[in-house]
Amino acid sequence: MVEHQLRGRGIRDERVLAAMGDLPREMFLPPNLADEAYFDGALPIDAGQTISQPYIVGLMTELLGPHPGMRVLEIGTGSGYQAAVLARIGCDVLSIERHPELAATARTRLAAPTLADPDGAPLSDHIRIEVGDGSVGWRIRAPFEGIIVTAAAPRVPDPLRRQLADGGRLVIPIGPLKTQELIQVIRRGDGFEERSFGACVFVPLIGAAAYDEATLHAHRRLGPFRI
Ligand code: SAH
Repeated sequence: MVEHQLRGRGIRDERVLAAMGDLPREMFLPPNLADEAYFDGALPIDAGQTISQPYIVGLMTELLGPHPGMRVLEIGTGSGYQAAVLARIGCDVLSIERHPELAATARTRLAAPTLADPDGAPLSDHIRIEVGDGSVGWRIRAPFEGIIVTAAAPRVPDPLRRQLADGGRLVIPIGPLKTQELIQVIRRGDGFEERSFGACVFVPLIGAAAYDEATLHAHRRLGPFRI
């Protein structure tokens, strides 16, 4: 996975490559899908959600510019894999999930002694998971040096811009429900630099600062996702 899907496609950050190489991805999947853990695509997890393709996890993590001690907000805990990659690099992660059962499973998983940081402490020492609507961020713990949104949004939610530290980076898939572009936002004072890094497909961000109800309703009737 690291050589072909990540390094072979241009992921260069050695911290990201090492973290993804060290983590057993099979521990983040339902048991019947463990054999598919290194598959080159997204896979279903519980509650009709998905764990992202390894390449997309690598790219988003690299675009965040992670380093030990960095304060990161993740929106969309899902399986907990993305949070684990950041924690393994040494980031201090606050991750928000709207489905309580996914949050509970991820918490248990990340406390496992087999998922440790390089010093042998459980990854849960570096990750706090909260249940709620992350589309509006987590104001009381702001500002964040990095914000990573692992669900699709129609535009960059304003509360997330406000909660980004000066010089901080926000990585988020933006676009309509069917397909999005991966966007990196870097805050420079009151200004925001934005760059696009190609197409991607995510499950939707559901919340106050995301898609309106009519758009979601149309998608529910057409789309494969249970949202
Ligand atoms: N990062 C995850 C993949 C996330 S899939 C991983 O590594 O496995 C997207 C997740 O975002 C889903 O679990 C979904 O329930 C969650 N989600 C959608 N809208 C949300 C919101 N407003 N706040 C928090 N979580 C949200």
